[in-house]
Amino acid sequence: MATPMAFFRGQIVPLEQANINVMTHAFNYGTAVFEGVRGNWNAEQNELYLFRVEDHVKRIRQSAKIMRMGLRFNDEEAANIIQQVVEKSGFKEDVYVRPMIYMSSEIVGVRMHNLEWDFLVYVTPFGSYLDPDQGARCATSSWRRVDDTEIPARAKVNGLYVNNAMAKSEAQLNGFDEAIMLNQDGHVSEGSGENIVMIRNGKLITPAPSDNILEGITLETALELAAKEMGLSVERRSIDRSELYIADEVFMTGTAAHLTPVVEVDRVPVGDGKPGPISKRLQSLYFSSITGRQPAYTSWLTPVYARAGVRA
Ligand code: PMP
Repeated sequence: MATPMAFFRGQIVPLEQANINVMTHAFNYGTAVFEGVRGNWNAEQNELYLFRVEDHVKRIRQSAKIMRMGLRFNDEEAANIIQQVVEKSGFKEDVYVRPMIYMSSEIVGVRMHNLEWDFLVYVTPFGSYLDPDQGARCATSSWRRVDDTEIPARAKVNGLYVNNAMAKSEAQLNGFDEAIMLNQDGHVSEGSGENIVMIRNGKLITPAPSDNILEGITLETALELAAKEMGLSVERRSIDRSELYIADEVFMTGTAAHLTPVVEVDRVPVGDGKPGPISKRLQSLYFSSITGRQPAYTSWLTPVYARAGVRA
């Protein structure tokens, strides 16, 4: 049976032993950065594939740099810790891995400097987040996306996610699946945990990094598959809210949400209100890639259990 494990204070321990003190700086002030990595289960191959671990390690290092923290492990060591936590947990189902670098000092005082930080990793079983088959019904949020001059959205800062949580709850409590946040200029930024892509006249259009988005790994994956497998071109530019109403298709990308079509924005149907053909084709390419069914893209994958065999 599977037992969830964690990497905590330099060791792999059962998750139930990975506990922090109430005075921990990160708990009090949100001074931490995190990642989400998916492990996707392939039952025929009896294998769990971690998706783009190296890219998540790179991004958490960048997030940490912005927050004046660091990662004591090199890229390979950090990727190995992530793989070992999952392997030792023994899951044979889809999982979500959460690496985090957090201010671990047990001290009162709002600041970023002269504090200790540490790296932790935990793993938990995780199914669908949005419904990738039905698609998501979205609402423009009344909460604006936090600006780079306030808290940088390109860093996955724990405290920043209050902004996302406000938007997500507003959308769900109003009967929608997901929020679309506008930035301070009123342009489309992103979902509460997803990047957004619009399709107009066969072209993929997505907000530029300066529109206060997280520079998404699933987004890059989708855009690469669209270009290489479907010959589609991509434009990165600001998007107006009203453009989403007249788009041919809209979809969201994220580690948790995978690639989910958006079928409605503010109760306006996107296209004919059903997942569109380009989104569906891309989604199928994406799902086969992340589960080890696309030989051309296996370099994105870390097979958790085959890797264990190699090391033993
Ligand atoms: N935007 C936000 C705000 C997110 O939290 C996420 C999820 N990490 C994304 C976009 C998508 O990024 P990725 O595809 O790298 O998971």
